[in-house]
Amino acid sequence: MSSARDSLKSARRIVVKVGTSTLAHADTGKLNLYRIEHLIREIADLHNAGKEIIFVSSGAIATGMNKLGIRIKPQTIPENQALAAIGQGVLMHIYEKFFAEYGQTIGQVLLTKENAADAHARENSRNSLQAILDMGAIPVINENDAVGVDEIRIGDNDNLSAIVAAMIEAEVLIILSDIDGLYDGNPKLDGSARLIDEVPTIDAEIERMAGGAGTKLGIGGMFTKIQAAKLATANGVTMLIINGSTNGNLRRALSGEHIGTIFPRKVTS
Ligand code: GLU
Repeated sequence: MSSARDSLKSARRIVVKVGTSTLAHADTGKLNLYRIEHLIREIADLHNAGKEIIFVSSGAIATGMNKLGIRIKPQTIPENQALAAIGQGVLMHIYEKFFAEYGQTIGQVLLTKENAADAHARENSRNSLQAILDMGAIPVINENDAVGVDEIRIGDNDNLSAIVAAMIEAEVLIILSDIDGLYDGNPKLDGSARLIDEVPTIDAEIERMAGGAGTKLGIGGMFTKIQAAKLATANGVTMLIINGSTNGNLRRALSGEHIGTIFPRKVTS
């Protein structure tokens, strides 16, 4: 029996991260509205149950591409910045609509590396997020891709969500993925690959299992999720990777059910 799983039941402040591969249909790249609506209903219900939820969402660039009918991601930075600017608004419009249907208020926060670069910047970002939570609203966070250039970009939302979780002293970070969690092999190639229930320590073996791949739509893959797990757990945050494509998984994970992979936080004193 895992005490880390048990501790999830009483978690109050939770960061939920969703990636493009969960938000969009793999074949068309268009938004999966069924999935988004179910996810938001689940988050709204957790909020109703007294949890503080911080929602980190990717999908700005993919949504911008959709809006303009662009199928292949452009190579230049300004084009990607422009797509993010266009897509972020569309995405927020959809979130605003769904969250409002369930009686929730949201507040958009767009961050870059600079917003967590030093103690002062971190404090400012933290205060903003705290004030949104104090108002009973749900922060919806993405990287500020419209002004993002390499020097100030975090680059992927797995790491961004871990930075946010540490900054706001969340108890749990839940990363919704397009697979069930971390496997000891590649489940797409190897039928005997097994899902790992709990990772007490992230060692070289775990890093090897994470490989380096990502999907066509998302950036992250398992590699950046393991980076995020290192950062989160070292900062007192328990991290979970679960499948975002199954309705009810968030609630199930938070009730201590053994789904996905859990990375228990390192005890910080
Ligand atoms: N911030 C990027 C976007 O909204 C996604 C980064 C990621 O997928 O990790 O398009």
